[in-house]
Amino acid sequence: MTGVRPTTARRAWWLREALASEAVTAPELVAASTAPPLRGTTTADVVVVGGGYTGLWAAYRITELEPGARVVLLEADLCGGGPSGRNGGFVSNWWDELPTLIERYGQDGALAVAEAMDAAVDEVGAWCAAHGVDAWFTKAGSISASAAPAQDGAWDEGIEACGSVGRGDRYVALTAAEVAARVSSPVLRGGVFMPGAATVQPALLARGLRRVLLERGVVIHEGTTATEIDGQRPGWFGAVAAGSRRAPARRPIGGLRPVRVRTGSGAGDGEVLAGAAVLGLNAWAAAWPWFGRRLVTWSSYIALTEPIPERLADLGWTGGEGLADGRFTLHYLRTTRDGRIAIGGGGGRAGFGGRIGPAFTDDARSAARAVAGLRRLFPSLSDVRIADSWGGPIDITADHLPWFGSVGDRPIHAGHGYSGNGVGPSLVGGRILAALAVERTDDLALALPIAGGAPPRAFPPEPARYAGARIVREAIVRRESAEERGERVGRLTRELSRLPGRLGYHLGLD
Ligand SMILES: Cc1cc2nc3c(=O)[nH]c(=O)nc-3n(C[C@H](O)[C@H](O)[C@H](O)COP(=O)(O)OP(=O)(O)OC[C@H]3O[C@@H](n4cnc5c(N)ncnc54)[C@H](O)[C@@H]3O)c2cc1C
Repeated sequence: MTGVRPTTARRAWWLREALASEAVTAPELVAASTAPPLRGTTTADVVVVGGGYTGLWAAYRITELEPGARVVLLEADLCGGGPSGRNGGFVSNWWDELPTLIERYGQDGALAVAEAMDAAVDEVGAWCAAHGVDAWFTKAGSISASAAPAQDGAWDEGIEACGSVGRGDRYVALTAAEVAARVSSPVLRGGVFMPGAATVQPALLARGLRRVLLERGVVIHEGTTATEIDGQRPGWFGAVAAGSRRAPARRPIGGLRPVRVRTGSGAGDGEVLAGAAVLGLNAWAAAWPWFGRRLVTWSSYIALTEPIPERLADLGWTGGEGLADGRFTLHYLRTTRDGRIAIGGGGGRAGFGGRIGPAFTDDARSAARAVAGLRRLFPSLSDVRIADSWGGPIDITADHLPWFGSVGDRPIHAGHGYSGNGVGPSLVGGRILAALAVERTDDLALALPIAGGAPPRAFPPEPARYAGARIVREAIVRRESAEERGERVGRLTRELSRLPGRLGYHLGLD
């Protein structure tokens, strides 16, 4: 039982809280007049499509790099209405991704990227402090702990990789007793601690970014969907993705052949003619021909308990640490200021092509899986009421890492593919995209090897992608659930759960 059924009609609790606090502290910001839908034609030096963290951080960075630039941001819903306002709020770094980063960029490149992501966590906190945004930034670290013998040692490769680059202090092995000292659960075993991780109230961060952008003169049009970008239109199937290693041709911002973005909204059609475009589309990127084959969309659901501060004290979980188990279909949990637990994961579902429909927001069974995870990890909370639940789409790439680059030789720059881990990394991504958009080739962000690299490996075309993802997901969930019960699954399920890895994707089980 989820208590509250997730539905598109209800905003996530985080966003409801954030909008309610805006109504009290800054009523002018919720008034439609500050971010009206676009009507008619307008121009911009840079048009940003997507009002999640990627688009918001990119727009913010442009205001730093080119204070005089005219930036127009288009958001189909509200800024923060997508996953940026409904995620788990884990501001993670990438020390756990270090083995993949080393494989991709070598040791020096990997270390540079990991250090940048590590610094981004503090930068989120510093940005909030500097701009008076109380997004509950709490840097208490994050624990990943085994919740079954089959999950033991899941972090060994990462611990070894961090040690090999002299950063063993960022990814520290924990014994079962050390885990229990931070949070007491009868099923948690040993694991790893990431002292550099933090948590935020995600919607307060997104809405805080929106406020600061409005103060800086960025023109925001909410309720405005980009229906055509530079002649391309979205479609459910996507198409063979383009993407280029080449830097876009240099041209003045607002140059000779502008990027044309056509829009639709309740107010009618509109159009932006811009010198450059930044696309922060997250899972919606899967609908656009440039990117479609490079992404699998996936749903992720969160359930939120009623306030239980005294029960958290009983568990000894009062330090504000994030917590996750060792499943591939992982459960992630964190506490809130008023003493609730938010738990997500446990196995969402693959989406079809670029369609972001009700499966991402209205799937009670996926929300129930998150709740079941809570009950298993903390049986003593079996009587605790679930106060809310909600879901959203994530954008999975073949190697679980995002891509930040340009489309062909056009000044169109995109960042997506966070694979469910974009809260911290989107700050770095926004910087890369901003530097590309205003052609600051000397910007340090562009020196990172994740800037402008080759697009991620393609997945099979639809309908094979959807069918394959579904079959593999069923096998992974079945296997991980059986392993938690101390059971073994049959050979077919085992092989299917390993299939993505066998095909060269950094996904699935070993
Ligand atoms: C349930 C859940 C839990 C998560 N938990 C975590 C976590 O704890 N930690 C973490 O790091 N990550 C987490 N993530 C992932 C994280 O939320 C994302 O990686 C991050 O928010 C990505 O930001 P973004 O700006 O790229 O995308 P989004 O926030 O999705 O923003 C994209 C925006 O683009 C808009 N848009 C799409 N198409 C158009 C169009 N054609 N025209 C105009 N606007 C358009 C959308 O409405 C949306 O608002 C979670 C995700 C989900 C769904």
